Amino acid sequence: MPSIREKVRRKVSRAIRDFEMFARKDKLLLALSGGKDSVTLLLVLRELNYTFEALYIDLGVPSFSEISEKAVREICEREDIPLHIVRAEQEKRISVQNVTQDYPGKECNVCGTLKRQLFNRFALENGFDVLLVAHNLDDEAAMLFGNNRNWDFSYLRKSLPVLHGKSGFVKRAKPLCYVREDETKLYTRYLSLPVVSESCPFSTGKSRRKYDEILEFSDERFPDFTETYYRSFLGSAAILQSLPQEEVTLQPCEECGELSATRLCRLCAVKKGVWKKS
Ligand SMILES: [Zn+2]
Repeated sequence: MPSIREKVRRKVSRAIRDFEMFARKDKLLLALSGGKDSVTLLLVLRELNYTFEALYIDLGVPSFSEISEKAVREICEREDIPLHIVRAEQEKRISVQNVTQDYPGKECNVCGTLKRQLFNRFALENGFDVLLVAHNLDDEAAMLFGNNRNWDFSYLRKSLPVLHGKSGFVKRAKPLCYVREDETKLYTRYLSLPVVSESCPFSTGKSRRKYDEILEFSDERFPDFTETYYRSFLGSAAILQSLPQEEVTLQPCEECGELSATRLCRLCAVKKGVWKKS
């Protein structure tokens, strides 16, 4: 029986190879939150001798962001990984606090956009080839399950392990796509890594939690349901990729210039108080 350390390392190594995620010469940026998944990925990439840098985004969540920043500083210092910190409030003049007042319950949607824009822009401006995100198999399966309800192919594609870069968007890869949630939990515990165990006070994640519950229930009824469900999807990925893609025309947001499908990007619409109100 391989140790959890070896098991996770093998899975990551296989995923990088199977999906041709990146090469050693690529300039890699790890999206680091301080949670168990991104800290696991940091350690594994280190063990696999990859050269990379990490980016932490301070979202301005009282107490939670401070605890997270302390954890990422600790692990990066210990493992000698260059760490960059971007503060949402400085860059975008928005923090999750602003959102709570005007859009209670919508913090996660706005936070997701904030992170996507900031990670992407930092990667592009600093010449990184690939952004590594630490989504595990359970994260991807839950998202896929949610999007499967409507069979919207453009959304189903988002659950693929590699999202190729295009104009204005850096390539994103998910090296933990074969790794289960329980495994990163075990891994960080086994290696006594400094990780943030608290969850974000805003992440009530209502719909995500419901999908998790459905998948957990399915796992009880059909052994390995979640794993089979996601891996079968990966097996059919070629079909999905061969389908013609609907071209969404993106334009620079009138306020901040970020590419957006609407006149104002979601963040600027939130700041102006017109998001979902027009
Ligand atoms: Zn904007």
